[in-house]
Amino acid sequence: MKLYTSQTLKIYNSLSGEKEIFTPIHEGRVGMYVCGPTVYSNVHLGNVRTFMSFDVIFRYLLHLGYKVRYVRNITDVGHMVDDVDDGEDKIAKMARLEKVEPMEIVQRYTVDFHEILREFNLLPPSIEPTATGHLIEQIEIIKSIIDNGYAYLSNGSVYFDVIKFNKDYKYGILSGRNLEDMIANTRDLDGQSDKKNPQDFALWKKAEPEHIMRWPSPWSDGFPGWHLECTAMSTKYLGETFDIHGGGMDLKFPHHECEIAQSEACTGHNPVNYWMHANMLTLNGKKMSKSTGNNILPREIFTGENPNLSKGFSSGVARFFMMQAHYRSILDFSDEAILAAEKGYNRLIESIELSEKLKASEASSLDIKQWKQSCYDAMNDDFNTPILIAQLFEGIRFVNLIHDGKETLKADDIEILRETLTVFVFDVLGIKNEKAIHANTEKLDGVVNMLINMRNQARADKDWSLSDQIRDNLAHLGIQLKDGKEGTTFNY
Ligand code: AMP
Ligand code: ZN
Repeated sequence: MKLYTSQTLKIYNSLSGEKEIFTPIHEGRVGMYVCGPTVYSNVHLGNVRTFMSFDVIFRYLLHLGYKVRYVRNITDVGHMVDDVDDGEDKIAKMARLEKVEPMEIVQRYTVDFHEILREFNLLPPSIEPTATGHLIEQIEIIKSIIDNGYAYLSNGSVYFDVIKFNKDYKYGILSGRNLEDMIANTRDLDGQSDKKNPQDFALWKKAEPEHIMRWPSPWSDGFPGWHLECTAMSTKYLGETFDIHGGGMDLKFPHHECEIAQSEACTGHNPVNYWMHANMLTLNGKKMSKSTGNNILPREIFTGENPNLSKGFSSGVARFFMMQAHYRSILDFSDEAILAAEKGYNRLIESIELSEKLKASEASSLDIKQWKQSCYDAMNDDFNTPILIAQLFEGIRFVNLIHDGKETLKADDIEILRETLTVFVFDVLGIKNEKAIHANTEKLDGVVNMLINMRNQARADKDWSLSDQIRDNLAHLGIQLKDGKEGTTFNY
């Protein structure tokens, strides 16, 4: 029996504004798409928070026993500076400033993104498609939107006709906006644009002669619109209708609104059953952002080299800090808050270690099964990690009471307590046990030192073949020995 059959998961759906019981389209399987980063600069801690929020959602769905196909894209073309249609591509701009190929920018920051997410213990998605790898699919979608009458060609570019679309469907259902109000609140076009209406958005842009990121299409040599890539990649890997679509709150409008419009204009129906939006990480009360410079880079968290930090923190502590807020709440970063999180993190890890050493009694004086279910209840309630953490600290209180002999548990209840703590902390919340990692490093250091001593003995015995074998085998494992005046040292 899979766990999901005995748990009732509710998800807050941004589309309905309500928590709804989660029922996937295909029993036992979940399709989830999350908008990935635009890889034109280093990810900041705010970006990490959004991806971490969806990592916990992914982890909990897996824990419940669902088979999840999690698609998170890489935006490597089409995302314009200031999110406007006229202007420069963010990646092309960075390539111009740094005098390198756009794909060098893409490669550099994709690698950085992966390294950082691995450091924060995020699981890789099942598929990580790129926009430039899906131009054919994007062109096909544009063709059908044109065929259905919801897009028009203008000077080699193709635009989505929002007013036409709004006659048959409704534009603005996700963000609760109304097209008439939007029209009333925008200035008329100044005649510079190829669009019929300011609300229209680009599906395909004709590239200016100096624009180097360009591909052939039936309309012009050009490049796709940012909103279109997510429609193309989610449809390709998850189908015309899939279960969950997520992203940061700032993507709700216009990005996700446009995704809905594109899908409806193409297939006639809403592509997503549950829309999920993660809230922002702020610094000094303002949104962390790449473009304004109000941000902390993940590496600065580790080293402490940022004016907002008094010292460095491990990725496990930073992750614990983020988990203390619900994904739909704004979280403000401050030195005091992360210092407090560090104390909580240490208590949690120490108590989990203590839970391994508890002594069993004849009878249980605590209802551990009920407590375990309350951990599930927290996560079933729209992935409420702060409530879960409060429950985990209740579990820690039990650990201490039992350790002090004030309460008792039978052996199988001790096992439930210990396992529930470890499963939720390490598997579901994805918090790393830095102490265990540290302890393993210490053990490895000990083994290498032992081999160095054996090699010294072999050299003293003139057994060169053994001494070389030890050195070469270690080198093969990436451990370099260096012989110096002070003896032999090593590095990994
Ligand atoms: P970008 O690379 O700018 O497209 O952003 C990648 C993801 O990070 C998007 O889902 C954004 O919504 C999200 N994001 C950007 N800034 C923040 C922030 N300050 N806090 C949380 N998420 C953010
Ligand atoms: Zn997207």
